[in-house]
This record gives sequence, C-alpha cells and structure tokens, in this order.
Amino acid sequence: MRFNTKNVHFQEKLDSAELSKAKPIYQTSAFSFHDLDDMEAFFQGDKSYLYTRIGNPNTDDLGKGVAELEGAEMGAASSSGISAILAGILAVAKTGDHIVATEDLYGGTYVLMAKELRDFGIDVSFVDFSKRETIEEAIKDNTVLLFSESITNPLLRVENIQELVDIAKKYDLKTMIDNTFATPFLIRPVEAGVDLVVHSATKYIGGHSDLSAGVVVGSRTLMKKAKGKIANLGSNLGPFDGWLGCRGLKTLSLRMERQCKNAAFLAEALSKHPNVKKVYYPTEASEKGNGAIVTIALGDHMDVHQFFRQLSWVKVVPTLAGVETSVTHPVGTSHRPVPEKTRSKLGVTYSMVRISVGIEDQEDIVEAFEKALKAN
Ligand SMILES: *Cc1c(COP(=O)(O)O)cnc(C)c1O
Repeated sequence: MRFNTKNVHFQEKLDSAELSKAKPIYQTSAFSFHDLDDMEAFFQGDKSYLYTRIGNPNTDDLGKGVAELEGAEMGAASSSGISAILAGILAVAKTGDHIVATEDLYGGTYVLMAKELRDFGIDVSFVDFSKRETIEEAIKDNTVLLFSESITNPLLRVENIQELVDIAKKYDLKTMIDNTFATPFLIRPVEAGVDLVVHSATKYIGGHSDLSAGVVVGSRTLMKKAKGKIANLGSNLGPFDGWLGCRGLKTLSLRMERQCKNAAFLAEALSKHPNVKKVYYPTEASEKGNGAIVTIALGDHMDVHQFFRQLSWVKVVPTLAGVETSVTHPVGTSHRPVPEKTRSKLGVTYSMVRISVGIEDQEDIVEAFEKALKAN
C-alpha cells in the first residue's frame, strides 16, 4: 500500500459480530477470560489483551498506525509526547549512561533531560548539531544515544539525519529522532536507519487540538522495551484518547498537504513585508513540502504585545499543529525553561513569533497577519 492508503487503513480488523464500520472504543480497564487456560494464552503471547495499562486495542492501533507510516516494525502510544520520549530513552539508557542531544530542543524535552534524566543519573550534553565535530567531541565512553528533532523548534533547522546515523554507527550508538514537526508525511527517519522515532501526537498526529498523547516507534527489540516502560511506569494512554488519535491520524495526509501549501504561501508573503525582519521557513525538508510552521522575527520598531493583540481570529496558544492557524510566543512559552544564555546563542528572541499554519483559505491567513503587522 502507498502512503495515503496506509494512512486510512491501519486499524486492526474487528472481531465483533456487528462489524461496525468505525472501530468501537474499548473503554475498559481490563479484559476477561473464559478460564485459566485462556488467561495463560495471554502470557504465552497468543492473546493480545489483559489489562489496559499494558495494552488496549484503541491505544495499540495508534502505535501501530504511526509505525506503519514511519516504516517501523512496531509502535506504542503513551499519555504524552514527553512520556513517549522518556519511554524511548529508557529503552536504551540507564543510570550511568550519557546522551548527546541537540541544543535547539523543544523546551519540555530540555526539562525532561536537563532535570529529570539527570536526577535518574543519566547525563545529557546539549551541543550544536549543525556541526558534525561538536557532536563527535561530545561523545564519551558511556554515551549510548544521539537525540535530535527532524525539524527543530522554533528556528526550523532541518536535521541532517543521515549524518547522525553515520556518526552513531561509527561510535556504536543508538539514534532517536523527535519527528513531531515533520510527521512521516514529510520525513521518515527509520528509513534512514534511525533506531527510535517519537511524536507528540498532541500535535499533527491528533491534529485537532483535543488530545494529549505520544507515540514511539522502532525495531521490535527496542519497542518491546519501550512498551514495557510505558506499562511499568504507568504512562499509558486511555482508550478514548487512543481512538481519538486514530481518528485524527486518518486525515494526516490531507491536513499536511494543505497546511504545508498554506505555510509556504504565508512564508512567501511575509518575507516581503516591511515590518517582518526575518522569516524562518525551511526550503529542502522534503519533496512533499517543508512543514506547516513558519517562524518570523518582527521588525525592531514593532510592538510585540500589540501584534499579538491584533490577530483577530488567529488564537494565541502554547501549542501547534491544529487545523486552525495559531501563534505562539516561544520566549514566553515553549522556550521559557531554556536558559536565557542558550536562547540568545540559538537566536530565539523576544520579537519571534511561531506560526502554526492551519487549513483555512490561504488569502485569509495572509490577510490576518497583514492586519496585525499594520496595526503597530
Ligand atoms: C509538544 C512537543 C513535545 C511534547 O509533547 P507533549 O505531547 O506536550 O508531551 C515534544 N516535542 C516536540 C517537538 C513538541 O512540539
């Protein structure tokens, strides 16, 4: 099957007598058994479900769907992007190990690594991943993992995934990529040899801003461990949220196609605007498009607060990837936990606005931003 077909046909066949067209929600905490032999079948691997924390048809569908689109052997869903990242990391790293991560990480991932992982005794170095030498210099004897994002936030640097895989092979390390901004519609890191790929399904996988979820995918060996972490740490996703994630996932191709087109149109329009100092939008992320996030730096004379007030129907939110166009102030939200020194080194400034482009008519989107840019 090709991408679009796989995108809508990933769910498991139903065993219900009624053969409902949509998958029912298995809103249950556990599964019952005819007898003890039947229960033993679960532990022998011949039956899929025992207890929802360990596995549930709706949650498993979400992991499976994303795994298929990413070209991975196995996937698992969890309660959030952050818990999916944690599960993936704990599948490869333990106390005493060291991780090398890109310094332009999503703020929440930075906190997870700089605070929580260090408290667990897992050390993390944050370095400039745009230079091969700085990555190699940061590798130590106890390094086990290289971690990056396929398209970074908010500066939208496109990671050189092949180079990371090459470095990892040279030093016998695992690689993990957060593919939230690109989605498998644009970039499939597993195909380049990446070991684990993670998503905040809260974003494009869900796509409708009504869900908090995460997914991690990879080889069966690593994923068995990652799924075990989700169960053992209790960061499983609920059945309804799994169902909602699958429902969102089915339209990923359509949404991404429109959103990437709209984003390219907006980036082009804003790059000519006199009140915009700089537009950040990748040019060669993939042949299908360059993502649906556009970051701009307002002109030095602009009143940033006034700009945010004048956005009419465009909502100011601390998230991205919904079907509606929205904006974020990275310094005030996603990058608030990142130390000021790192922020200014990266070039994340107060006048920066991250735009998540939706599925509206592209002319309306451009007009909304022109109005806010004029109001100053
Ligand atoms: C939002 C986000 C996360 C965290 O996901 P949650 O679902 O909020 O836990 C991780 N990485 C990236 C790139 C994100 O945008």
